[in-house]
Amino acid sequence: TTDNSNAIPASLPLRNDLVGEEPYGAPQLDVPVCLNVNENPYAPDPAVCDSIARRVREIAPTLNRYPDREHIELRQAFSDYLARESDTRLDVDELWGANGSNEIMLQLFQAFGGPGRTALGADPTYSMYPEYARDTFTGWQLAHRNADFTLDVDAVLEQIAQVKPSMVLLTSPNNPTGTPLPFEDIERILAACETAEVAGAAEGVHPILVIDEAYVEFRKPGTPSAVSLIKNHPNLAVSRTMSKAFAFAGARVGYLAASKGIIDCVRIVRMPYHLSAVTQAAALAAFEHTDEQLSYVGHLRDTREATAAWLQGQTYKGQPLEVAESGSNFLLFGGHFDKREAIFDELLKRGVLIRVVGPDGWLRVCMGTDEEMERFRNALVESLRIVE
Ligand code: PMP
Repeated sequence: TTDNSNAIPASLPLRNDLVGEEPYGAPQLDVPVCLNVNENPYAPDPAVCDSIARRVREIAPTLNRYPDREHIELRQAFSDYLARESDTRLDVDELWGANGSNEIMLQLFQAFGGPGRTALGADPTYSMYPEYARDTFTGWQLAHRNADFTLDVDAVLEQIAQVKPSMVLLTSPNNPTGTPLPFEDIERILAACETAEVAGAAEGVHPILVIDEAYVEFRKPGTPSAVSLIKNHPNLAVSRTMSKAFAFAGARVGYLAASKGIIDCVRIVRMPYHLSAVTQAAALAAFEHTDEQLSYVGHLRDTREATAAWLQGQTYKGQPLEVAESGSNFLLFGGHFDKREAIFDELLKRGVLIRVVGPDGWLRVCMGTDEEMERFRNALVESLRIVE
């Protein structure tokens, strides 16, 4: 586990606004069943591992040189993947990779946020966004979601008009709630962004709309992705990752699909050679095996549906558990857990790590293998009885 105690010597000139802040992150504990950070629980198969080893071996003799700063071959692979996964063919200059979609988001904040600028999100949402805002001196404002966690589109439009943000950041499907974001909602908000003002900016400057599609491959089949809107909307940016459905979290590869203009803005702030040759080789190898890498997505979707139904059949203090609708590989459940930390602790004692996140009264669990889910169900039944 990492040391989160913030014993920073007072003699260090840490930025004033960072004094007392703690490094953010889910606990990394060595437990048998990890259902806490929304990974794909199925390991790459041996053929994928062999391809990764071969590709990395091939570039190893060139490691004295810097990698392709523009990672052109990998951007072509993103293009091929989206053509297949989302039925949208984008050009290489409409795609961009980074070390996880975390870095993509940070780069967007670096390029489009900054002092005097504000980013608008819709809570409850991904807890890293306010940290990117803080780190780039960008203001952070929220439009609140409805009680069922769907987006209150009117509230978002009102906030866009009032706050005049430079970035509107929405998660589709949302984390930690799993809530799908209807395509019509994206279109309405995008239309509003395209005419909205940005505080402090010249006339004719409009906010960008960032759709974070980290979990989008788990959506209901047949639902369009926001990438299908990129060709006609220069202020739309869609963030994607290989960490979730694609089962490649350890490699740290995220990517951005957007107009060439947005990509060129991000290229201004990126670190030189930010994506290592090893990362690029590993990602290219994984894309050679897209079928295998995605082979459990359907099963994880089924696991989500079965787990949601099972959870709805459980009770706590005589009340059935609530389960938020999810288009993702995790479920937010409970709704009336008055002692969610205690439930989390009891699960942990039984070797099952989930996440205390989201509004009070709720817990989040990510879908594991069939055996892991069985352990989760057994542990939860016991834990609820004890805490109750
Ligand atoms: N966006 C959302 C909504 C997430 O939940 C996560 C991971 N928890 C990320 C982005 C970042 O993922 P990565 O950096 O691994 O691509």
